[in-house]
Amino acid sequence: MSNKSCSQHVAVLVFPFASHPSPLLLFVRMISAVAPDVKFSFFSLAKSNSSLFTKCNIKGFDNIKPYDVWDGLPESYVFSGNPLEPIDFFLKAAPGSFKKGIAEAEAEIGHKVGCLISDAFLWFACDMAEEMQIPWVPFWTSGQRPLFIHVANDVIKEKLGASGDKDQTLEFLPGFSAFLASDLPGGITTENLGSPIAVMMHKMGLKLPKATAVAINSFQDLDLEVAFELKKKFHKFLHVGPLTLTPPLPPKISEDNGCLEWLGNHKPASVAYISFGSVAALPPHELAALAEALEEGGFPFIWSFRGNEKDFPEGFLERTKQNGNGKVVPWASQTQILNNACLGVFVTHCGWNSILESITGGVPMICRPFKADQPLNMRTLEAVWKIGVGVEGGVVTKSGAMKALQLCLSSKEGKEMRERISVFKEFAEEAVKSYGRTTEDLNALVNEIICRPSKPKWL
Ligand code: UDP
Repeated sequence: MSNKSCSQHVAVLVFPFASHPSPLLLFVRMISAVAPDVKFSFFSLAKSNSSLFTKCNIKGFDNIKPYDVWDGLPESYVFSGNPLEPIDFFLKAAPGSFKKGIAEAEAEIGHKVGCLISDAFLWFACDMAEEMQIPWVPFWTSGQRPLFIHVANDVIKEKLGASGDKDQTLEFLPGFSAFLASDLPGGITTENLGSPIAVMMHKMGLKLPKATAVAINSFQDLDLEVAFELKKKFHKFLHVGPLTLTPPLPPKISEDNGCLEWLGNHKPASVAYISFGSVAALPPHELAALAEALEEGGFPFIWSFRGNEKDFPEGFLERTKQNGNGKVVPWASQTQILNNACLGVFVTHCGWNSILESITGGVPMICRPFKADQPLNMRTLEAVWKIGVGVEGGVVTKSGAMKALQLCLSSKEGKEMRERISVFKEFAEEAVKSYGRTTEDLNALVNEIICRPSKPKWL
């Protein structure tokens, strides 16, 4: 990639919840490495900005500046325990608070914003960009299939009707014959139709085709069929991932609770890694069932765990410490663990970042999805790419977990899954090379949109 001289000011609008801010910052770092003269104003909540900019190394990226925006919470607000509430307040305040932030950044930098990059969720960025007469580049943090589903929202509603029959197939969508209505994110058909998230996703699906370009944290060869369908829907569809492989690489975390050293003492492809991302948690009976399966089957494991330790079977943590068969840690250096040759399987909730990290680590997955895009991702892993298995019946039981662990760690099917995943891993590595598709799409973004020679007419 060649460095591009260009004095653009780009505003980056963040959806500051779950693991959304981190890939967006990685995306901005990647653009910045190609176009170091561009100034990026990164608008998010104070709490999210402070932890993200400490965690993610932006040393040497003086052109990326965090700006804190208002969270929209009333002064007297007390958290009710409903995680959707702060999101709702944020979204209501967001267009106004982002506009205020942009005005401040423009005054400080002395340069009008000439391009808007936003989390794709923030559909109203389309109207802001239109008003400002500048390009809008929404960034989608999940995979091609959930993106396609949201763009096809109205078609799906029409085809499935209001019957709510979860067993209906999605064969009317290209590439979706193996999928069922029950795989869809809530809010598409009957469930939670009016919730703030459902409304946001619906509006997003309608606005994305208007974007100058839609960027995705994925690589084209991972899902060619759906990628081509999406190309027909958007003015430009850019694959810019997997971001964990694109230069400049994120820093390695040195504090890993001793996981890597412990892992290194095991046989190749023999250890299970368990993590359900930054939000999801297993209900107590499933947690106990998984612990029992690991213990009874003698599967060595690393468990990234942030719940209530009392939910583990009695004595489980003590026995694990004593016999050294596993490690339970509050946070793990996931990408490094997944890249270790001793890692054999990832028990995951099917969050998109986790899936990409597992693919680039070459590790098959045992899937226990919870909500949003996760059930759809699970079906993709199991039925389309065949690099993962769901837990029997959709919930973790002791016997189901033992079966899935044995299948992935010591059966012919597990070996075949590893072989298939290694092909995807190779595609991912090719995509980020200087001649690869991801590099090409990144250069198109910089040359044709961010550092374009003259202002194009708003699309
Ligand atoms: N993660 C990590 N250590 C942990 C647990 C999670 O580094 O102990 C990171 C993981 O590498 C991934 C992100 O947190 O990048 C989780 O993102 P994902 O999209 O999988 O799930 P979400 O948190 O959005 O549900």
